Amino acid sequence: MTKHIALLGGTFDPIHIGHLRMAIELRLAGFDEVRLIPNNVPPHREQPKASAEHRLAMVQLACEHLTQQSINGEALTGIVADDIELKRDQPSYSVATLELLRQQLPKDTALSWVIGDDAWDSLHKWHRIEAFLPLANLVIINRGHENQFSVDTLQGQWLKQHATELDNLLECTNGKLIRLNWRLLDVSATYLRSLLAQGQGAQLLTPDVVLKYIAEYQLYKFD
Ligand code: ATP
Repeated sequence: MTKHIALLGGTFDPIHIGHLRMAIELRLAGFDEVRLIPNNVPPHREQPKASAEHRLAMVQLACEHLTQQSINGEALTGIVADDIELKRDQPSYSVATLELLRQQLPKDTALSWVIGDDAWDSLHKWHRIEAFLPLANLVIINRGHENQFSVDTLQGQWLKQHATELDNLLECTNGKLIRLNWRLLDVSATYLRSLLAQGQGAQLLTPDVVLKYIAEYQLYKFD
């Protein structure tokens, strides 16, 4: 296997320490690389407050900030921004993104798409979901949204047929599923935006370099 890449998609409007800590946890758990993938939002959904360019720039700044940190004497590398969904002028569907990534990467690259359990609840509605597991593993992070799925649901079937342990998933290029009970920081971009719109500081909720960028471009002022 060349390497195992964890993929974390989202609007990142803006990126915050919840995302960054999650990326760090994924690296520490054994993923070789974590890609943060800002997405295009379909026109009929609520649009992000900041443009795609700004959201990507903030993710890039935050990733650079991480490389200046070290853990056990080693630089915190391997957490990167990927603009793959912004380069396509279309709504972002995970399966389409995975197909593109598969074209770009060596065949034996392992891919794991990471979602929160809120997204897991509506997985059966995802575009071309039947094509997902042949392309990647699925990592579900529990965010307190406990739900039971009967065996006749897609989620119930996937749990029965594809669930595994982390060590095993890390060895697989695709086709496995895991639910992780990680302690997550109770921070959201919505909270940051509301602080910024009220003119309150959001110090420590995102790297200073991101706050500086937000101030420079006057983002989130009139939420
Ligand atoms: P918003 O408040 O605007 O809805 P958000 O903070 O939930 O945004 P997104 O950009 O929608 O952030 O999230 C990107 C990804 O990061 C999603 O998979 C989401 O589940 C995850 N995520 C969001 N907040 C956290 C957090 N505090 N800890 C861990 N993961 C998070």
